[in-house]
Amino acid sequence: MTYEAPIEDMMFNIAHVAPGSADLEMAAAVLEEFGRFCAEEIAPLNATGDREGAQFDKGQVRTPAGFQAAYSKFVAMGWQGLSHPSEYGGQDLPRVVGAAAGEILNAANMSFALCPLLTDGAIEALLCFGSPEIKATYLPKLVSGAWTGTMNLTEPQAGSDLALLRTRAEGQADGSYMITGTKIFITYGDHDLAENIVHLVLARTPDAPRGIKGISLFLVPKFLVGGNAALGARNTVRCQSIEHKLGVRASPTCVLEFEGATGFLIGRENAGLEYMFTMMNAARFAVGVQGVAIGERAYQQALAYAKTRLQGRPVDGSAPGAVAIIQHPDVRRMLAHMRATTEGCRALAAFAAGWQDRAEAAASPDERADALAVAEFLVPLVKGFCTEMSVQTTSTGVQIYGGMGFIEETGAAQHTRDARILPIYEGTTAIQANDLLGRKTLRDGGATARRIAAMIAQTEQELQRGSQVAQEIALRLSDAREDFQSVVAHLVEVSPKDVNAAYAGAVPYLMLAGNLVAGWQLARSLLVAEAALARGEDPAFKSAKIATARFYAHHILIETALQHVRVAQGAASLLGTVL
Ligand SMILES: Cc1cc2nc3c(=O)[nH]c(=O)nc-3n(C[C@H](O)[C@H](O)[C@H](O)COP(=O)(O)OP(=O)(O)OC[C@H]3O[C@@H](n4cnc5c(N)ncnc54)[C@H](O)[C@@H]3O)c2cc1C
Repeated sequence: MTYEAPIEDMMFNIAHVAPGSADLEMAAAVLEEFGRFCAEEIAPLNATGDREGAQFDKGQVRTPAGFQAAYSKFVAMGWQGLSHPSEYGGQDLPRVVGAAAGEILNAANMSFALCPLLTDGAIEALLCFGSPEIKATYLPKLVSGAWTGTMNLTEPQAGSDLALLRTRAEGQADGSYMITGTKIFITYGDHDLAENIVHLVLARTPDAPRGIKGISLFLVPKFLVGGNAALGARNTVRCQSIEHKLGVRASPTCVLEFEGATGFLIGRENAGLEYMFTMMNAARFAVGVQGVAIGERAYQQALAYAKTRLQGRPVDGSAPGAVAIIQHPDVRRMLAHMRATTEGCRALAAFAAGWQDRAEAAASPDERADALAVAEFLVPLVKGFCTEMSVQTTSTGVQIYGGMGFIEETGAAQHTRDARILPIYEGTTAIQANDLLGRKTLRDGGATARRIAAMIAQTEQELQRGSQVAQEIALRLSDAREDFQSVVAHLVEVSPKDVNAAYAGAVPYLMLAGNLVAGWQLARSLLVAEAALARGEDPAFKSAKIATARFYAHHILIETALQHVRVAQGAASLLGTVL
């Protein structure tokens, strides 16, 4: 049940999939140190935390044994601030390194990692939209991890559809607001890890327009904050209960009651939707990375088990008795699928993070807008594709264990339970797909999608000039890219005439696009690996990379053909099915 951070693969992506983003020596040193910390301090709490679960007792939320000590060390070592600005005490590392660190923490223990993940989301929102006073008061404490953050969107009647939210915010004479309402499913909405909690809350002012145009964003601290960030009176926001869940059981999921709590407006009234999208883009990306993380953890365990479990004679007669199950072609198929999916998703996330870094480093507004269009196109792919695939990958992990996979003691079952939330929270896969189709594809008439297709076509040309394997992959990549282009053209054409038919294909379109961009990154990786191998560099890792890219192209990338049929020809039967 141990975990070893895949630093070599992460560094390969930082150097080659998102080149130019990071100082490589510094990134390697940080990730190695963080990998050691997470393996030693955080990973051992994964199974025990799951068994014990977060507890709610006499109005207090308690995290499982060991969480407080581990979180104190996490804060003392400054890990929360890794990719946040040095102005507030962070280390300024680029997003591509932050994504790798996020994967390590989540692979070690997803329930634990959710707390820093939500804090990152709050930091992001305050950095972008907080006033100078709010930033000065809250950011140093959040960046250090001394205080943690939450995102309060969901209400009983408002989940995917935030237009329905009812929490009220009434302006007070002193410029603050009085927040009243019930929020549900709030991750780390209350806990015993930090001295204060900074809730970012979506609410409506009394004269706000109806629907999503009338949502504002407020900061509501658990304890009110005075000068020099001194903690004052307890605010009137209380945890009513915590949920009993399928997975991530060690993380408290809270019902929060705001009873006239004191809140502070972030940015302008009624502009909450715009702020929320910034916050959500960061959080959605981070949830996609959780998918990579849990896939990696499940793969490492399944691989170790497959090397030791003796069962079945080999079909080629090479041994007289039972052999380790890894020798059976079908077990290899399952392991290779887990590995290729996870590496493909990791590369997809690194590629997306690289575009975010590029947007942030842009020299001009045009250059920034240009990079941001690609970065934002990729967010629903990272969230939707990586999380859906993590559900498959962790389930395959259970299959490799056979009956023991169904028994909690091995830990394989916990990964499937933990992974199951990933395609749901931060917007379900359908919501990601609607975003990809509506905001990211149809709104610009398919221009960004076509731009990505053109970049892929360039990689195909490089592959065609390469080795036999590279040429094989060029064919698969070319087929997948044509599926994508054809689907984009179809959706742009159909949508104005029959919008239901277009949206009937939204999730298959997302899965096609995610698969394609992941496969494309592995094809680019293969080119780098082949060139390095020709120079005699690091033969074991580079050969493994080539093998993984090849497997991906032959076994996973080809599924774009199925998605193409679903989008282009499946709408009528989907909409016509009697339910
Ligand atoms: C463990 C956990 C932690 C969470 N943490 C937080 C948190 O910290 N903060 C927070 O605010 N919320 C949090 N949530 C809430 C989470 O974000 C929502 O559960 C999620 O967004 C889905 O909303 P819902 O549950 O109301 O489902 P619904 O919106 O009711 O969706 C039900 C089904 O309908 C589909 N659907 C809905 N609308 C559409 C549409 N327009 N098009 C296509 N399909 C649609 C969905 O895809 C889904 O399959 C958490 C939830 C859980 C379980």
